[in-house]
Amino acid sequence: MNWQAIVETIENATGANFKLINARSLAGGDINSAYCLQGVEKSYFVKLNRADTIDMFAAEAAGLTELAATHTVRTPLPVVHGVSAANAFLVLEYIEFGVSNKTSDRLFGQQLALLHQQQQPYFGWHRNNTIGSTPQPNNRNEDWIEFWRTQRLQYQLKLAAAKGYCGNLQTSGEQLCEKLVGFFDGYHPLPSLLHGDLWGGNAATDRQGNPVIFDPACYYGDREADLAMTELFGGFSQDFYAAYRETCPIDTGYTTRKKLYNLYHILNHLNLFGSGYLSQAENMISSLSSEIR
Ligand code: ADP
Repeated sequence: MNWQAIVETIENATGANFKLINARSLAGGDINSAYCLQGVEKSYFVKLNRADTIDMFAAEAAGLTELAATHTVRTPLPVVHGVSAANAFLVLEYIEFGVSNKTSDRLFGQQLALLHQQQQPYFGWHRNNTIGSTPQPNNRNEDWIEFWRTQRLQYQLKLAAAKGYCGNLQTSGEQLCEKLVGFFDGYHPLPSLLHGDLWGGNAATDRQGNPVIFDPACYYGDREADLAMTELFGGFSQDFYAAYRETCPIDTGYTTRKKLYNLYHILNHLNLFGSGYLSQAENMISSLSSEIR
């Protein structure tokens, strides 16, 4: 990789000189290759992918900007994104990570609850983005149930059909989609700003003990959808949940709805990573269907 063009873009965006000492490859990302560009005084975090993925980086930068503007949970600030030769690139502030503890976990729970108090009048967002590398539509909708049905579950089911996952998944999935209203008896979600892809791999703690979230798939939706994903692959502590609940209580129906929300991510995993997720998706649909009339 010739880093000179990206160094110049950083200098143009920041208006400051940047002398690159070392470009270090970082492990951990599922989708992109990631680097730390270490300078004399400052370092930058850079993601690279094929040039045609630039819109994905533009959406990520917009999400980070929206999250940062809430002054709730810390996020890396976007510096610049663009295309250089065959690569799309996204440059962010580089954050040194530290170790979480009870205090930082509690702070994270409180701050996430405050993030979720940032609301707008409708579900969706001002632009589409991606979840992993899968397109994620965010068309404006005043009706959350219809939003979840059409833009989340049915969208992923259609992608799955196009990849050849037909049969029981499609039939039972469509039947479930017709019954969604049954999960929302007496519960009226508000359009909260969500991280959108909040698993343990997209959260950390900085050296000062501040929680940090990154790699978002933002939109305005039911805050339970973010909470559900924190439980999907483990990784969030009891202190985190206790502090979240103290700041913003959680409706009792969440226990059932969280599976409905995580079904979206399991369908996305099926579409991204293949048939290993098919039986999990079918089992979730079957279990959800048995829980409502
Ligand atoms: P991908 O989009 O490929 O999934 P991530 O955004 O998850 O990539 O980043 C990959 C890894 O890089 C993360 O797991 C995290 O450890 C680290 N990382 C992400 N953002 C930053 C940042 N701004 N500063 C330092 N390290 C970061």
